[in-house]
Amino acid sequence: MNISEVLAMQARRHPMHEAIVSNAERLTYEEWDETVNRLASGLAAYGIDQGDKVVLHMPNVKEFLFTYFAVQRLGALIVPINAKLAQDEIEYIIDHSDAKAFITHELLFNQVSGIEGTNVICIKTGAALKGWYAFQDVLNQGSEQAIISPLHEDDEAAILYTSGTTGRPKGVVFTNRNILTVATMICIEMTMNKNSRVLHMMPLSHSAPLHLFMVSATYVGATHVLAPTFTPDLLLDLVSTEKTTHFFGAPVAYLMTAKHPSIQEYDLSSMEYWVYGGAPLGTKEVEFVKQQFKTDRLTCVYGLTEAGPNGTLLLPEEHDSKAGSIGQRPALNCEVAIVDENGDYVPYGQVGEIVLRGEGNMKGYYKDEEKTLATFKDGWLYTGDMGKRDEDGFIWVIDRKKDVIIAGGVNIFPKEIEEVLSTHPAIAEVAVIGVPHPDWGETVKAFVVVEDDHQFASLEQDCKRFLEEKVANFKIPRIYHKLDALPRNATGKLLKQQLRQTQQSPEGEIR
Ligand code: ATP
Repeated sequence: MNISEVLAMQARRHPMHEAIVSNAERLTYEEWDETVNRLASGLAAYGIDQGDKVVLHMPNVKEFLFTYFAVQRLGALIVPINAKLAQDEIEYIIDHSDAKAFITHELLFNQVSGIEGTNVICIKTGAALKGWYAFQDVLNQGSEQAIISPLHEDDEAAILYTSGTTGRPKGVVFTNRNILTVATMICIEMTMNKNSRVLHMMPLSHSAPLHLFMVSATYVGATHVLAPTFTPDLLLDLVSTEKTTHFFGAPVAYLMTAKHPSIQEYDLSSMEYWVYGGAPLGTKEVEFVKQQFKTDRLTCVYGLTEAGPNGTLLLPEEHDSKAGSIGQRPALNCEVAIVDENGDYVPYGQVGEIVLRGEGNMKGYYKDEEKTLATFKDGWLYTGDMGKRDEDGFIWVIDRKKDVIIAGGVNIFPKEIEEVLSTHPAIAEVAVIGVPHPDWGETVKAFVVVEDDHQFASLEQDCKRFLEEKVANFKIPRIYHKLDALPRNATGKLLKQQLRQTQQSPEGEIR
């Protein structure tokens, strides 16, 4: 079994079943599979061969789904990238992945029009241009004759680049087995079947939307409802008109939609699983979302790109008492543990590193053996997330290991301080990092975004007073820095790395 054969299998099982809904267009599984065959042979005619890497730069449109499967049908590796990346970030990935081809969508063309100077075959939807082949011409070169992918389960299928929250994006290599292991987990855990209608609104270039929801939905022959972008209006509209059953979104997508003034007018009753991940939703937020969405089907997934992203699940019925945690047990096909520096299990209540084991874990980092070896120990993938189990066995993510501040030999978790400071009514956003200190090794520094209409007498004094009763004195930030906005990457994740660099450059330091 390999990923592209999953599609061929479903096209044989129920060719006339609705496979893709994209804008006003509807395609059956047979039409999708035939297009994939045509595109695969067309790409072969343009020089794409087994083992080549093809960078896919598209929003959630039907051509994304065509290309994803066509590339793998040739035995080549697909490298899907976030549609919002800047051109130099894309060039880095093209270069690092040794890409043979780059395929983009006309909607994104302005961002990448300079790429044809690099050594790749450039393809775009819409009209052909100097240095660019037209996607339609490639399709026209191909034939509908079935192609059988030469890939086996343990052959490489894809490279996904991490979002770069903690440094340069890393190329995460997956085999067919890795991806199918994670996809089948969702099919079973979230009872997906042919009648499911899965709404794809988060970028399909990311591991959770892609492996957990797109490959899984294809695996069971479900219907894909594509939305090229997220807006609360579109989410509510598509759920109610297309009667979708599964949705995955970042917590912020839920919070924004819950505030929609007419949410109560939409019929959202078709939804079986409202899934979120990437960050937690706290107790109050969960209550708010459940009430506004009129649902008790909120489900949290915890994982990271390197793990497929398989990890743990917080089930709908666990949200009443354990919102904010990542659940008590691993998802299917995965194991979870919390360990100390020696790899020994830590007792309940004690903080350690969360480790994951299972066939969904990546094969390794592309061209980085050293980092791969450092990430796996005894078959466990070290997540870099610090966490602890409560008395009921539920796991709470405390912070990222790289972000932990060590001041005078004592560990301080920035997230704890950020959570308290963000409850200050005049603080819109906050990020806390450790900065070098001659005596203590590190000291705590807070970057604060202040609500528009608020004037602090002294940011430093006001914040300190606010924190005094709530956290121990040694954790209270000693340095404060006001910013207009926190630096974030294309997926909205905070870039602490960038804050640390600001700290290092003297001209960036404003006290
Ligand atoms: P990079 O590796 O380049 O820094 P990244 O780690 O941000 O990128 P992802 O794999 O998308 O890329 O993020 C995974 C991280 O997100 C996890 O390690 C964890 O810190 C956080 N995370 C994921 N799901 C949850 C969740 N349900 N609750 C809390 N944190 C989560």
